[in-house]
Formats: sequence, C-alpha cells, structure tokens
Amino acid sequence: MEINIFSPKNVNKENSKDDMTEIYNIEVKLLAITGPISATAASPEENESHLTGPEELIEYAGRLCWDSTDKLGTTSDRIQKWIEMGHESVIEHASATFYIRASRALTHELVRHRTASYSQRSQRYVREIKPQFITPPEINAATPDAPSIFESAMQHAWSSYKQLLNLGIKPEIARYVLPNACESQIVMTMNFRELRHFIKLRSDRRSLPEMRAVAGRIREIMKTQAPKSFEDI
Ligand SMILES: Cc1cc2nc3c(=O)[nH]c(=O)nc-3n(C[C@H](O)[C@H](O)[C@H](O)COP(=O)(O)OP(=O)(O)OC[C@H]3O[C@@H](n4cnc5c(N)ncnc54)[C@H](O)[C@@H]3O)c2cc1C
Repeated sequence: MEINIFSPKNVNKENSKDDMTEIYNIEVKLLAITGPISATAASPEENESHLTGPEELIEYAGRLCWDSTDKLGTTSDRIQKWIEMGHESVIEHASATFYIRASRALTHELVRHRTASYSQRSQRYVREIKPQFITPPEINAATPDAPSIFESAMQHAWSSYKQLLNLGIKPEIARYVLPNACESQIVMTMNFRELRHFIKLRSDRRSLPEMRAVAGRIREIMKTQAPKSFEDI
C-alpha cells in the first residue's frame, strides 16, 4: 500500500492558547502529514476508502495484527489503548513535517532527536549577510543593561562576519564568529511516536524555553490534526 502526504487540516493560529512562539518571534508551521493514497489509484480496491487520514491508517495497521480491520472506526479510544499497553510501533506509520524558524541554539538541540529527518538552511552555502537573530524575551525582562549588551554582541558578531567575508574568507569559515542566537530555518519530519516523545521531553520546565515554545506549538497542532494519538499529552 502506498501512502502519500496530503494537505493538513487548517490550523487556526488565532485560537492558540499557549502559543509562546510569538513571544520568541519564532515560527512553527505544519507542512504535511501522512494521508490517504491519491484518488487517482488504479482501482477502488487499491484506494482503501476508509483510510481518510493518519489515524485511520494507524488503526488499520494496528487492527491488521488482530485480523480485525472489519472493525475500523468502531472504538474511539482504540489508538490510546494501544499506546497505554506499549503497542506504540503502530503510530510510527504516520508522520508530520514541520517548518521551524528559530535560533541555532534551538536547532542544535533539536537535531539530537535521532529518529527524525532534517533539512536545515546551510551556513556554508548561504551568506548570513543580514543580522537575523532571536532575542530571547528573558534578555528584555532582565536588568535594564541586558538588551543593549545583547544587541551590541550581535552587532559585533555580524560586523566581524562581514569583515571576514570581505577579506575573501569563505562563509563556512567566517560563520565561526556567528552566535547561537543566529536565526535558522529547518524542515523536520517525525513519526507520531517520536513526536509524542519529543513533545513530552521538550515541554518539561527543564527544557530550553525557546524549545518549550516549539514543543508547545507542535503539541497544539498535533492535537488538532490527530487527537486520538495526542489527546493524553
Ligand atoms: C532538559 C534536557 C537537558 C538536556 N541536557 C543535555 C546536555 O547537557 N548534554 C547533552 O549532550 N544532551 C542533553 N540533552 C539531550 C538529551 O540527552 C537527548 O540527546 C535528546 O533529548 C534526544 O532524546 P533521546 O535520546 O530520548 O532520543 P531520540 O533521539 O529522540 O530517540 C527517541 C528514542 O529512541 C530510542 N533510541 C534512539 N536512538 C537510540 C540508540 N542509539 N540506542 C538505543 N535507543 C535509542 C530511545 O528510546 C530514545 O528515547 C538534554 C535534553 C533535555 C530534554
């Protein structure tokens, strides 16, 4: 059975209750999520009409184990029950792809999640000419001096970067002077099992606050897109 990605359901950002991404001036967007095979399948049999979204696919895969695919859609908490009993491999069949604009400090931590796939804006092939950086709100909330100290560090870093480029030094070397705050963009694909793990781990108060903002937004999106798989977290 071939599974294509399809357009995610609308995610209404305005309705967001715990969206800290705006406070951090970062972005998290859902690009794609596992969906049904296309309507152009060769025959109706080939296009399993009951596979209307990621959770129908998960249930189909799980029910296949017990030869009960004829009971699809009859038990609303079927996926949660599998999760509770540790039969979590079934939710690996569905994945979601996100666009994330955040600091390099964040993306450095993000890519530690090994079972995901990533494509990140390159600092080797792209010149970071414009000083684009994330200012953590904690800086503005700290002492009156903190914002100007931070701002001045950014100005120095980018000024040095440009001077090095002007000397003919390649971007891949000049970037060594750029800060952790440097803005980055990354596309990340995680299956639902890894997404649950990521959300739980990175929503913890001990996690980097910017990462908590990303995890919070992803949780909110996944609760809308796949409530049966994410309702308990
Ligand atoms: C609050 C916090 C503080 C942190 N501090 C530090 C720090 O100071 N220094 C630091 O280096 N890192 C730190 N980390 C990163 C952390 O150690 C993990 O690397 C990161 O969170 C990725 O999670 P993970 O290892 O569970 O797995 P993922 O890579 O997300 O994989 C998911 C799961 O798959 C399984 N898995 C994946 N790969 C393997 C494998 N090779 N062998 C066995 N099982 C595997 C594990 O069950 C794992 O939990 C911190 C993370 C948090 C949340």
